[in-house]
Amino acid sequence: MKMKIEADLHTHSVASGHAYSTVSELALAAAERGLKMIAITDHGPAIPGGPHLYHFSNLKVLPEYLHGVRLLKGVEANISSNGEIDLPEEILRQLDFVTAGIHTFANYDNTTMEEHTAATIAAMRNPYVMMITHPENAFFPVDIEAIVKAAAEYKVILELNASSFDKFRFGKRGDVEKVLKMCRLAREYGVPLCLNSDAHIHLDVGNIEPLAEIINMAGLKKEDVLNTSVETIERFLAEKKTVG
Ligand SMILES: [Zn+2]
Ligand SMILES: [Zn+2]
Repeated sequence: MKMKIEADLHTHSVASGHAYSTVSELALAAAERGLKMIAITDHGPAIPGGPHLYHFSNLKVLPEYLHGVRLLKGVEANISSNGEIDLPEEILRQLDFVTAGIHTFANYDNTTMEEHTAATIAAMRNPYVMMITHPENAFFPVDIEAIVKAAAEYKVILELNASSFDKFRFGKRGDVEKVLKMCRLAREYGVPLCLNSDAHIHLDVGNIEPLAEIINMAGLKKEDVLNTSVETIERFLAEKKTVG
C-alpha cells in the first residue's frame, strides 16, 4: 500500500531567497493535493539571501488556515559549527514548528563525522527544536545511531527528505544505506519519522514520490511516520511545548 501523508512539514516560500512560490501558492497546492496541513519552514537568517529575523517575528500575520489548509508557522534553522541555531529564544518561542539542519555557507565549517554528529546533537538539546532536517545528507555524514538515540532522548523528529533522494534534479545527496539504518533504529527506539518534500516551489508540496523505494525497502508503516496523521502531529506539538 502506498504511504499517504496528511501534512508536509518542510516547505519553503520566496522568503528563503532561493525558493519560488508564495505562502498562498504553497497552501493552495497543498489543498489541491489533499493535504490538511503544511509547515512553512523558511531558512534561518544565516542562509545567504535568507529572511531577516523580522520575517519570523511577524509570522503571526499569517492566518491559522489558508485555502482550508492549517499553516504551521516555522523555520528551518541553521545549525552552526558549535551546534547553536541562528534564531534567539524570544523568536523560537513564537513559532509553531522549529526544525534545524546543517547547510553550506551558513555558519558551518566542520568537516568530520564526529563534528557533524556533535553539532546535530547539540541542536537537538535546544528544547525548541522539534525536527532535524535531512540527517541522511551525504555531504554532512553523521553517526546515525548516535543521532537516533539523541532523538529518542530529546524527543525530536527525524526527517526523510524527498529532495535528498530526487536523483534527477539534485544528484545523490541522500545516503540510502544510512537512511535505511535510521528507519530501523528509529522504530527500535520509538523515534518519530517524517516524510517531507522540502519543496522550494509549490509544485513539489506534498511530493514524497522520490522516497517511495526507501519506504518500501525500510518497510515503513503508517504508525512509524508522524505526518500520516494531523492528530498525531498535534499531539507531538502539544507534548513538545510542555518540554520547551
Ligand atoms: Zn533551501
Ligand atoms: Zn529545507
